[in-house]
Amino acid sequence: MVPISELADDLRAGQRAAISRAITLIESRRADHRADARELLADLTSSMRQDDTKQTVRVGISGVPGVGKSTFIEALGMYLIERGHRVGVLAVDPSSVRTGGSVLGDKTRMSRLAVSPDAYIRPSPSAGTLGGVARATSQAMTVLEASGFDVVLVETVGVGQSEITVAGMVDTFLFLTLARTGDALQGMKKGILEIADVLCVNKADGDRVREAEATSKDLAGALRLVYAGTQDWVPPVLTCSAIEGTGIDTVWSRVIRHREFMGPNGLKDKRAQQQLDFTWALVRDELDQRLRTDPDVKAMRAQIRAAVLSGEMPAATAADQILAAWDA
Ligand code: GDP
Repeated sequence: MVPISELADDLRAGQRAAISRAITLIESRRADHRADARELLADLTSSMRQDDTKQTVRVGISGVPGVGKSTFIEALGMYLIERGHRVGVLAVDPSSVRTGGSVLGDKTRMSRLAVSPDAYIRPSPSAGTLGGVARATSQAMTVLEASGFDVVLVETVGVGQSEITVAGMVDTFLFLTLARTGDALQGMKKGILEIADVLCVNKADGDRVREAEATSKDLAGALRLVYAGTQDWVPPVLTCSAIEGTGIDTVWSRVIRHREFMGPNGLKDKRAQQQLDFTWALVRDELDQRLRTDPDVKAMRAQIRAAVLSGEMPAATAADQILAAWDA
């Protein structure tokens, strides 16, 4: 195993093999790997702090399965690479926690990006809790940024908590939706309108163009009501066709406009607050991990399970006993 400082140097030199090694380290649950990962991240962040000019762009991209996220990321990624950017693609997929497989950030679905030397695609880590997956993804973002990727796209599927989690690690959150699937408005979870910075109705092509535009107008109207009377950024609603590559440039220009609206200080504050939130998320994740692996807790698990399932022991008593075992 190469020393961590050497790995950090290889990353700063943009070596691809080093990126994969670093991310593997970050995703590992072994205690010694976690210590190495912490050392690596400390090294990378201290060198990046010295260079404020290399401000990266972090964008979250979400929407229901089938909305066209992979196709969109492929189109946006290629558009950015043509303009001289280097693009990292990461994924937060809570379902992979259950299935052990990863459907997002799938290289086979982004065939052009996957072979580009200016792109790096990493599927969602499959092990652990949403907190663990989020930790690994957020740290992988730091690795990519240290390796010279100036845009990082974080993909997530539209299922509530994972979106909130991703919104907490990016500068701009982009929500993709479809025209009048009967639920463009009603079906859109209320929370989405609160975290989306840019919305886009995808598949605005063929005979769906007018429907897409009508849906976008409806959504824009709804958003104006939500934001009426505030000085906040009002999320623009656009249309695009990921497959034909139309409207991608406008989406990107709105992402940039959103950054300009926040301004350098606003963005700095947002990232600082995210780091503070992330700190506590890391603590919760670590506590959860320790609780799971604590030998005293492990020893009583089967007994508690049986007692609660049979109705013998109320949940609150069971919780007290587990915590008492852990405290001891
Ligand atoms: P994801 O599950 O959100 O990642 O969606 P995919 O990118 O895998 O796309 C789901 C399906 O929709 C695929 O068959 C795509 O070819 C198709 N698709 C994606 N974007 C568009 C688009 O802009 N227009 C049309 N007509 N089809 C699209």
